[in-house]
Amino acid sequence: MKGNLLSGPEPDPSTDAGHTDAPPRVGFFTDTSVCIGCKACEVACKEWNALPEDGLSFSGMSYDNTQALSASTWRHVAFIEQSAPSAVPTPEGRAELPLAGAEAPGTDGGQMRWLMSSDVCKHCTHAACLDVCPTGSLFRTEYGTVVVQEDICNGCGYCVPACPYGVIEQRPADGRAFKCTMCYDRLGAGQEPACAKACPTESIQFGPLDELRERAALRVDQLQEAGVTGARLYGHDPQDGVGGDGAFFLLLDEPAVYGLPPDPQVTTRDLPAMWRHAGAAGVALAAGTVLSFTLPSVLRAAASAAASAASAASAALRGGGAR
Ligand code: SF4
Ligand code: SF4
Ligand code: SF4
Repeated sequence: MKGNLLSGPEPDPSTDAGHTDAPPRVGFFTDTSVCIGCKACEVACKEWNALPEDGLSFSGMSYDNTQALSASTWRHVAFIEQSAPSAVPTPEGRAELPLAGAEAPGTDGGQMRWLMSSDVCKHCTHAACLDVCPTGSLFRTEYGTVVVQEDICNGCGYCVPACPYGVIEQRPADGRAFKCTMCYDRLGAGQEPACAKACPTESIQFGPLDELRERAALRVDQLQEAGVTGARLYGHDPQDGVGGDGAFFLLLDEPAVYGLPPDPQVTTRDLPAMWRHAGAAGVALAAGTVLSFTLPSVLRAAASAAASAASAASAALRGGGAR
């Protein structure tokens, strides 16, 4: 029997969710160092899951035209353009970023680099979206992933602020929430998710989570030895604020550069303490209410008893004096 399923170490989330004989937990390892920004993963996700388009408009800010994860974009390839201080300002005040022959900042003559990263739902070990869902629309699968069933979503929207990564979103048309399902239907048929299948560089790797963590640790060491000092893992640690992610990343810079929270915490972590405090406050309020009604009559009775005693004593004294 576990003490707290909302936070802390959680080695087997699918068994704790009630699955017996669950297969090994699976996940994604996204190695951004080999992502070429082709967006095949975004397209494969949309195609397999029959997701609507996002407007097909350019943001004017970047080659990243989808910009963020949403109810209709379950994979989002971020294009992060990092310019060196030597980038040339144009008369309009925008930085001129040379696209041909550019090298990474810090290298001789280099002026910019692109960081590309295919973001997705993290399939958290402690998934606050699931914890707060009142209908059971969000649930933990036997593979340890987190899936939303749109047909029983009531559109309450509780899951949206609960997600520490800003992943899950409601569709404006009907309010139902959507996000990556790690292609639950494909997993059931023994296939890998559509995005991993489509990725030409194996930037998205799918498999048993333990194996992926070992592979990722080796890859970081390899990059560090090759002089890529910024290489680091994100979301791989079972001791972090969400108990580790089922979808974790190898990044080349700080998480914030990619729009990821540096120290994510499961938002339901403090619920047990909050309920304890709310319970104590309720008991105190109830006691105060009872006292406010009963105290005056108790005081009146006490005053009346004291007056009777004083009167009796006085009578006794008077009687003694007459003798
Ligand atoms: S990333 Fe957000 S939506 Fe995905 S499982 Fe975690 S809390 Fe839920
Ligand atoms: S696992 Fe499936 S649903 Fe999730 S991002 Fe990849 S293709 Fe889309
Ligand atoms: S993750 Fe793979 S499929 Fe997606 S943009 Fe990068 S290289 Fe292309």
